[in-house]
Amino acid sequence: MSLTKKILIALVLGVIFGIGFTFVPQELFTTINTYILDPVGQIFLNLIMMLVVPLVFVSITLGTAGLGEPAKLGKIGIYTVGFFLVTTSCALVIGLGLGYLLEPGKEGVFETTEEFEPGEAPPIMETIVNIIPENPIASMADGEMLQIIAFAIFIGIALALLGEKTAGIYRLFEQANEIFNWIVNFVMKAAPYGAFALVASAIGDAGLDAVGSMAMYMVTVVLGLIVHGLVIYSLAIWWIGRANPFKFYKGFFPAMSVGFSTSSSNATLPFSMKTAQENLGVKKEISSFVQPLGATINMDGTAIMQAVATVFISQVYAIPLEFTDMLMVVLTATLASIGTAGVPSVGLIMLAMVLAQVGLPVEGIALIVGIDRLLDMLRTSLNITGDATCAFIISEQEKRKELKAKQL
Ligand code: ASP
Repeated sequence: MSLTKKILIALVLGVIFGIGFTFVPQELFTTINTYILDPVGQIFLNLIMMLVVPLVFVSITLGTAGLGEPAKLGKIGIYTVGFFLVTTSCALVIGLGLGYLLEPGKEGVFETTEEFEPGEAPPIMETIVNIIPENPIASMADGEMLQIIAFAIFIGIALALLGEKTAGIYRLFEQANEIFNWIVNFVMKAAPYGAFALVASAIGDAGLDAVGSMAMYMVTVVLGLIVHGLVIYSLAIWWIGRANPFKFYKGFFPAMSVGFSTSSSNATLPFSMKTAQENLGVKKEISSFVQPLGATINMDGTAIMQAVATVFISQVYAIPLEFTDMLMVVLTATLASIGTAGVPSVGLIMLAMVLAQVGLPVEGIALIVGIDRLLDMLRTSLNITGDATCAFIISEQEKRKELKAKQL
């Protein structure tokens, strides 16, 4: 059986078991969760997390060195960031539009089920200045993705320019890359078990009670995710990438399902890069540059949640949003995504920033916390798909350019 099929079955079983767990006595679920699901899920998560920093560092260095001239890297960088900004803005507009259309916060009694303490998101200028790390080793220890990317780019450029002089180190990086790829392949075999455990545990833990009055909010977010994936990404793949979006989705599915089970774009990176390179034929040097960057700065699924949540909270508290407020939502949410890493539930921290910016009560987040865990899984899948879409279309454009150059 192919890995994709196995993961799919694991996901379906995970959802079924997760829902089943909501009907068994709480103590039984807690025991199963503590002794089976949680450890299996955590071991799987740790196995992939341990690869993220070394893999990103080595593959971006090689990717940059492989691109050769810094000017080419600059062009791809600008294109990538441009694509991310445009798609995130589209995601926010879709989220706001659906929020107004479906009015998830208009009727119903919404109860606050949990407490929410908003964390601090770093100010945007600080993030930009700190992209250049003061201490790259500390950045790696802390998993600061943008800083690791910046450091790797410098080393990659130096390797490209120094050529023969540093051929030994270049080879060392190539061999290290081989090693990490081997481990990724190895860990991928455990993905069905890990995915099952993570999904069953998350759903069993979140419970379905929380859905109740929040069903309309959930439907609105999920619809937004589907519309964005099917319309915006498919258009980009078909129009710019000149490829069949269905084939793209079929090929990328294994990574999407791992994103779904881990709820973390960062943790999914080793899988999403490998899947894009092997199943979608994305050039290595492009995948290794665009996808790690995307995992940190591009979160369209999260943007949709934030837009819907903002409209939802404004409806529940009956505080209407002006047009300028909506522009503010688009601006703040886009900037907030740059400064925050793709880890579970970070979207709520970003949402706190957005709400504060447009003068809505931040306590409103408490309403959606209960079901956010479930939505986080879905939006993370979309987040990593956006990164892969960008890598795919750039890679296809590059391939066409190379072909043209050969024909001349
Ligand atoms: N978990 C999401 C991600 O890693 C971010 C979020 O929406 O909380 O992409």
